[in-house]
Amino acid sequence: MTGTSLPTTDELRERALAALSRVGVTPEDGSDFHARTPITGEDLFGLAAAGEADAEEAVAAAHEAFLTWRTTPAPRRGELVRRLGELLREHKSDLADLITIEAGKIRSEALGEVQEMIDICDFALGLSRQLYGRTIASERPGHRLAETWHPLGVVGVISAFNFPAAVWSWNTAVALACGDTVVWKPSELTPLISLACDRLVARAAGDVGAPRDVHRLLLGDRAVGERLVDDPRVALVSATGSTRMGREVGPRVAARFGRSLLELGGNNAAVVTPSADLDLTVQGVVFAAAGTAGQRCTTLRRLIVHRDIADTLVERLTAAYRKLPIGNPFDETTLVGPLISPKALDGMQGALDRVQAQGGKVLVGGNRRLAGQAPEAAYAEPVIIRVGEQNDVVREETFAPILYVMTYDTLDEAIALHNDVPQGLSSSIFTRDQQEAELFLSSAGSDCGIANVNIGTSGAEIGGAFGGEKETGGGRESGSDSWKAYMRSATNTINYSSELALAQNVSFL
Ligand code: NAD
Repeated sequence: MTGTSLPTTDELRERALAALSRVGVTPEDGSDFHARTPITGEDLFGLAAAGEADAEEAVAAAHEAFLTWRTTPAPRRGELVRRLGELLREHKSDLADLITIEAGKIRSEALGEVQEMIDICDFALGLSRQLYGRTIASERPGHRLAETWHPLGVVGVISAFNFPAAVWSWNTAVALACGDTVVWKPSELTPLISLACDRLVARAAGDVGAPRDVHRLLLGDRAVGERLVDDPRVALVSATGSTRMGREVGPRVAARFGRSLLELGGNNAAVVTPSADLDLTVQGVVFAAAGTAGQRCTTLRRLIVHRDIADTLVERLTAAYRKLPIGNPFDETTLVGPLISPKALDGMQGALDRVQAQGGKVLVGGNRRLAGQAPEAAYAEPVIIRVGEQNDVVREETFAPILYVMTYDTLDEAIALHNDVPQGLSSSIFTRDQQEAELFLSSAGSDCGIANVNIGTSGAEIGGAFGGEKETGGGRESGSDSWKAYMRSATNTINYSSELALAQNVSFL
């Protein structure tokens, strides 16, 4: 599997089966849908989807498991995520294989995704001893006021194809440490990696004596996800995917007074100021815009460059883009793998046509690649396109490697342009001027959930909270105090005096 030549579907099928078998999974034959690889664009094998009865059984079992799991001391719950982390380390290469085969990620990014899963298990293990509540000064003598945190219930995790395992692990490792149980509906485009992850949790649970049903998997399309969305036993629906999906899921969960945590589309931008270190900027921009073939929620989609340096920067970026190796994601030299599907390629072409019709000018890229070798696959050259300020397409998320370049004269103008999109996930500024950096990070600067300086928009670490504002959905996952979304708090007032004192000096009786 080297060079520009692609592996065959048979080779990929064998590689997937070998990885699954090492993890302990034998996929059951089914005909409801197919596991597929974007590397050749062909089907790997048929699988069965979960029906209504399967969903009912899985949620009931996860709910039953919750009733014991919630009373298991949190540090003991941490032992489950520690064991899961060990198994992830052991099977890092197998899991990365499955991610590459199903999502098309290049090898180093697939390994990086598994590393992120290991990291969040470490984080959740520590968290299991740090689910702190506050003690609050009471206004009444002989009283103590405290905040305690309790497990929430069953967490329904609905995930997207592009981070087919890491996003699940952010939710699952933290939810399990918090005392919740999980029912997972992964993307229908990435069933194999989810079978592997589910198996590893089951193995970890068996090893530490936790109930098997702390984690259940439901394969299938959005209809399966909708069952989780509507089930009142699912206390929290954590849904990652397009804004379209979130627009449907959010109100449905709210209608039954459930909780939702939405991680939706981004339309991320970087501002490049005249003082920026251009070597660093070029590296940061190319990885953020072309990495993962433009299929990260945090992919850099808009570059807002000061007019004085625009030509120089664009020249350097286009030169770097011309050298990007595109092709077999298993080849160590490849930097850009396939798009997930021909439909994604159509979406990319459609966006390019519309931007050009509105005066945009393609500077580099945009051609389809490897169509002769793999007619069902979708390989595309990442594109840089120069646009004017007024361009509707720029305000949409197109899940493909398109970088729109626009220019600005004042930083206020750049920040206004930056924030003038419906999404609010990730952002960055490249500058060596501290005032500019601080302004960008201030309340008058970027309106995103992630704001960086001298680093691209993608590639967050698990220790911080991850998520975005506006149409990105407002959810926060992973590190910092995101765990609070997976628990419920109770305020306790304890009277240890022998007087009944009412708050606010109210007298009664
Ligand atoms: P998608 O919205 O098509 O699907 C995501 C998941 O939602 C899938 O499992 C799908 O089956 C399910 N789903 C879709 N409609 C549903 C409904 N009505 N009810 C219940 N479930 C439903 O997204 P995708 O194409 O797999 O992923 C790409 C999108 O995800 C991009 O917009 C990207 O920005 C976003 N994303 C966001 C984050 C984040 O953290 N903000 C992370 C990864 C991906």
